[in-house]
Amino acid sequence: MSTGRLQDRITVITGAASGIGRATAIRFAEEGAHVVIADLPSQSAGAQATTERIQALGRRAEVVAIDVTQEAQVREMAEAAVAAFGRIDILVAAAGIEQDPSSRERPPILDLPTSSWQRLLDVNLTGVMYCNRAVAQHMVDNHIRGSIINIASGAARRVRPGMVTYSVTKAGVWMLTRGLASELAPYGIRVNAIGPGTIETPMTHRLYGSAEDVANRGQTLPLGRAGQPIDIANTALFLASDESSFYTGSILHPDGGSLLTATL
Ligand code: NAP
Repeated sequence: MSTGRLQDRITVITGAASGIGRATAIRFAEEGAHVVIADLPSQSAGAQATTERIQALGRRAEVVAIDVTQEAQVREMAEAAVAAFGRIDILVAAAGIEQDPSSRERPPILDLPTSSWQRLLDVNLTGVMYCNRAVAQHMVDNHIRGSIINIASGAARRVRPGMVTYSVTKAGVWMLTRGLASELAPYGIRVNAIGPGTIETPMTHRLYGSAEDVANRGQTLPLGRAGQPIDIANTALFLASDESSFYTGSILHPDGGSLLTATL
């Protein structure tokens, strides 16, 4: 249901060709936002599909092909958004990977190629920092009291064998969020994170094997189901909207209760 909570707000969403990023782009458009869809060049079909959904809602969409690990491309993404729409009000940094794409293995740290460690850090942590920095600089320069939302993970608070690097990157995103929240608060820019639990997307299909395997895993959670991308999109909508105007430096966990037994 649309209540125009983001009417005419200009939003940049990385990873918007797929999964959580795409659902967030469409949900934001339902609420009146115009959206810059930023994703890898190899995801052009997904970016086009997201674009068509947004345009069908009567909102504008622009596709920018980028790799978030390349700082110059990230700066160009922000410049392209400003060229197309005049400003940026909201960033959702959703681009991420759960393992090194060049390896379908999840070895323990003792056997992990350093290149795999570095690739996850580059995409999940440094890439988020580049996006936050480029958009925040635009907001500061133009006195925009914007909202930045970083997609971390429940893995920021817990870890399991074979997923150590992923947890390290997501814990880093959470602390980056807190640090930027403190540095940008004087400008009225809010920075928050979302730490999803198990959400049914192409990422978890790859991680667990199939949609059915994700659903089976969901049945073990306290609320008895895996999350859907819309669960995260609605959380992002809250953090993007004025309803969360007193939130900064927070991490919200839409996770079906996954973290109820975590201690951190
Ligand atoms: P997804 O469906 O794989 O979407 C992620 C998108 O980001 C893909 O289009 C991906 O392209 C893109 N991407 C990867 N590397 C990139 C790069 N260097 N530059 C630009 N774009 C890049 O995954 P998702 O499940 O929606 O995940 C979105 C975010 O939520 C990620 O940060 C993930 O860690 C986080 N998260 C997901 C879950 C979950 O259960 N799904 C839980 C907690 C947190 P490729 O497909 O080509 O890699």
